Amino acid sequence: MDKTLVTIARFTDNFEAELAKELLIDQGIQAFLKNAIVHSMLPGIFPGKFDVELQVSEEDAQRAKEILVQHQQSPEIQNLLVSSGAILEGHFQLTSGKHSGKYVEKIRLLQDPIATEAVCGMLAEALEAFEFDTVVGPAYGGIVLAFEVARMLNKTFIFTQRKDGIMTIRSGFDLENVEKAVVIEDVLTTGNSVREVITCLEDRHIEVQAVTGIVDRSGGKAEFGVPFVSLLQMDIPVWEPEECPLCQAGQALTKPGASDKKI
Ligand SMILES: [Zn+2]
Repeated sequence: MDKTLVTIARFTDNFEAELAKELLIDQGIQAFLKNAIVHSMLPGIFPGKFDVELQVSEEDAQRAKEILVQHQQSPEIQNLLVSSGAILEGHFQLTSGKHSGKYVEKIRLLQDPIATEAVCGMLAEALEAFEFDTVVGPAYGGIVLAFEVARMLNKTFIFTQRKDGIMTIRSGFDLENVEKAVVIEDVLTTGNSVREVITCLEDRHIEVQAVTGIVDRSGGKAEFGVPFVSLLQMDIPVWEPEECPLCQAGQALTKPGASDKKI
């Protein structure tokens, strides 16, 4: 075989490893398990602490990682967002002027540190497969998330902010040992601010390994040239005011505060 295989995930449970392999094969990716032990002969003495490596060819690695992470999506994240009040139902005027029946008030999640910690645990899990030294988040929402994920994964943390409209790394951070980074965003609508973060990191010769977010509202438009994983994909319908069924139903319109973005 002339293809180079790379390890994209490790499992201590052989069954889980088999499931992940099957999942990739179902998606048309050739996947292999290394060090698989089918049965433990003496489960009492050797309770099955295996290290099974899931491998794919180098060219499939990125897509395979994305598939694995997306597959781990669970209703848990949706429950956390709803219970912390971050997913609002009603009749909203978005900053674009369009109307929608759902709104993600991301700051509500951060208001609940326990829920935020749980979400960061999921983000950390999604990032475990990647190699990096630093977690980066754009201000404000990304600061809390990136900090907590960095703490969980024992990495360093930096944040970016807009200065005169341009995304920059907050001055004062020591970037000498920052070489490989991942970017965390809360809600991605167009993905534009993440793209700006990537550009400002690359300008400082920091390689971006992956992007992760809590909610992807982009409808598949968020692409960054590196693996992107989100915990939840939400396809929220929006309407022009004149076509809005909620207006026609006479439901009161609210304007959620999404105006503190420019910092
Ligand atoms: Zn409306």
